[in-house]
Amino acid sequence: AVDVAALRKSYDKQMVLAGVDLTVRIGEVVALLGPSGSGKSTLLRCINNLELWNDGSIKVGGRRLGFSDSGKALSPRLLAQARAEVGVGMVFQQFNLFGHLTAKENIAGPLRWVHGVSRIDADRRATELLGRVGLSHRADALPRHLSGGQQQRVAIARAIAPNPSVLLLDEPTSALDPELVNEVLEVIRRLAVEDGLTMIISTHQLRFASEVADRVVLLADGAIVEEGPADEVLSNPRNPVAQRFLNAME
Ligand code: ATP
Ligand code: MG
Repeated sequence: AVDVAALRKSYDKQMVLAGVDLTVRIGEVVALLGPSGSGKSTLLRCINNLELWNDGSIKVGGRRLGFSDSGKALSPRLLAQARAEVGVGMVFQQFNLFGHLTAKENIAGPLRWVHGVSRIDADRRATELLGRVGLSHRADALPRHLSGGQQQRVAIARAIAPNPSVLLLDEPTSALDPELVNEVLEVIRRLAVEDGLTMIISTHQLRFASEVADRVVLLADGAIVEEGPADEVLSNPRNPVAQRFLNAME
């Protein structure tokens, strides 16, 4: 579903992604681990076309993102269109809900504005998804009246509403109080196990990664230093950087 090849990205003179290759199959769940500053958010933001990159290619569902076939960067309008058509959904650490819109409108609004869904169908979809994330009773609440865990569940519902072909989650639980982490992880786990959604999740939750991810990818200094089934990578990393990182996490 996702094909990242030789991706290079720098900010000013600092090389943040130094040639990343990553293929994610349909239905696969990949956990992206790595020290702070290793480039996890940058990689996810490139896949969601929120950043331009210097070199390399990203394809989602066989479609090239970010650059037209002639190699020119796409305009913001064409990027937004491509993002909607290709179907990349994203969940951010800080939820990023629209503060002036209710939970239900946070989900239904973008379906109407970005995806051209009718009001009736958008409302129906929003109601259905609020039920799936356990928030039917909070449909009319504004984000500031919801807990962090509830806000993040709305954000997840919003991200999956247009049926994306891949869902990117950037540290979806690291802004949450510890007692709210599990309700969010449980929603993500259900999307992985029951819905077979294709996902890339950057996380510091090693246990969650080993339970949910088909594969773990460890990023260090902008390169993938270790990759494989979660139990292998987490219990027996070969790369010294990976060993140090995983030891420090325990
Ligand atoms: P964390 O675990 O702390 O979220 P990360 O792995 O997500 O870290 P990134 O946020 O991708 O790391 O950052 C990678 C590097 O790129 C860091 O050195 C960071 O300072 C730099 N960086 C990120 N965004 C920008 C930006 N907009 N402008 C300049 N440098 C940036
Ligand atoms: Mg980050």
